[in-house]
Amino acid sequence: MHVENLPLTELARKIRSGEISPSEVRETFAARIRELDPKIEAFNLVSDTFPETDANLPLAGIPIGIKDVFCEKGVKTTASSKMLTNFSAPYESTVTARLKAAGAVSMGKLNMDEFAMGGSGENSALRITKNPWALDRIPGGSSAGSAAAVAAGLVPAALGTDTGGSIRQPASMCGIVGFKPTYGRISRYGVIAMASSLDTPGFFSRTVRDSGLLYEITAGHDPMDSTSLDLPAGLDGNIWNATDLKGVKIGIPKEYFVDGMEADVTKEVRAAIEKARELGAEIKEISLPHTQYGLAVYYVVMPAEVSTNLARYDGLRFGHSSAVPSDIAKNRSEGFGKEAQRRIMLGSFVLSSGFYDAYYKKAALVRELIKKDFDDAFKEVDVIFTPTAPSVAWKIGEKTEDPLKMYLSDIFTVNASLAGLPGLSLPVGYGKTEDGSGDQTELPVGLQILGPRLGEEIVFKTANVMEKALASKMTKRPKMS
Ligand code: GLN
Repeated sequence: MHVENLPLTELARKIRSGEISPSEVRETFAARIRELDPKIEAFNLVSDTFPETDANLPLAGIPIGIKDVFCEKGVKTTASSKMLTNFSAPYESTVTARLKAAGAVSMGKLNMDEFAMGGSGENSALRITKNPWALDRIPGGSSAGSAAAVAAGLVPAALGTDTGGSIRQPASMCGIVGFKPTYGRISRYGVIAMASSLDTPGFFSRTVRDSGLLYEITAGHDPMDSTSLDLPAGLDGNIWNATDLKGVKIGIPKEYFVDGMEADVTKEVRAAIEKARELGAEIKEISLPHTQYGLAVYYVVMPAEVSTNLARYDGLRFGHSSAVPSDIAKNRSEGFGKEAQRRIMLGSFVLSSGFYDAYYKKAALVRELIKKDFDDAFKEVDVIFTPTAPSVAWKIGEKTEDPLKMYLSDIFTVNASLAGLPGLSLPVGYGKTEDGSGDQTELPVGLQILGPRLGEEIVFKTANVMEKALASKMTKRPKMS
């Protein structure tokens, strides 16, 4: 039995039935981490003590990897920043608390772009995580370690956060499932903040159903997060039995098939759309007319919130202290990496009194138009299909000198974040790279499935049917070389 290849739901069933013990499962993953993590570098911290778990719980003994942005009481939580290398969280995030209450155990902390800012993992102050499909390539970001760890079989599932694509994009690059719910569905309490009106916890898993289970366990109202929605978040169990998409209307926004996308990405996503049609879905071309402004709006709103949230790290109350602890400027210059500093400056600029109306206020207004585009579209369709990212995983170092190039990789994910919608990236094919490296490695391609606000159920149902239908095609495994 290859424990590392089993979906989490399957593993949980085997543990509950006594077929395999929690300690055997943990030891299998611990051994893989010891063997493979020196190559992948997904972990910032590997757990070495595990609590006893009650065998009757739904996630009894299941090891979960935790993005290093979720506080766990008494555990080092760094956000992959020099600012927080010595920070031990004094309390537990709601998400990790709910997972642990369901029997899961933390396998450790996973690397990320510093404070979740980036799309490749390269902004980490601690290490550069490698893509298990090709070790000279990025795993995507910001949840770089989470995506790489699940793809490499170092954990059956991992936690991530998605502010502008940080779950969906790395899931796409690493050939696994990545899911973000509607904003407010899963509590942000105890999650180190990046941009609070966008931040959304979510999951990486091997199957759609696994993400569905983690969603059901963690979603729901939390009085500790004032933006948490007080609505039932349960899923109808019947959705997992569906084998066709009859009666499902799928919108294909024409603005999401643009010049500059890699040919194989377009080809594989188009093939997935055809598959959905064969499965009985009605395919409809739609328009989301304000799509083109999404990236600009995101890169104004997000840094504004980042500059506010990161203001607390002054080296006095929180964060790194320099040799002159009272010198806040020095503490911050030393503690924050280049990208964090860039966004703090951008954010302070767009919020400054002379420019607030021209930038922040304008962006906030256009954000409403982007939301309205989706509201209008979802009057006509049930879900929307787009590529998750315009390219497959690129080479480490390829975009680090040019932040704009890096930001462009978020082009298909930021709009749904601005609108607060649920989304899932499903691996649907493999594509050759066109990055001029001459390297013809095959790398995973992701399909993005977006739902209306609170529409998690239709997203999961559609993704699950697609996943079953594509199972015979999606058989490749990462080489880890
Ligand atoms: N890549 C995007 C950014 O750099 C998204 C980050 C995220 O979702 N945390 O902001």
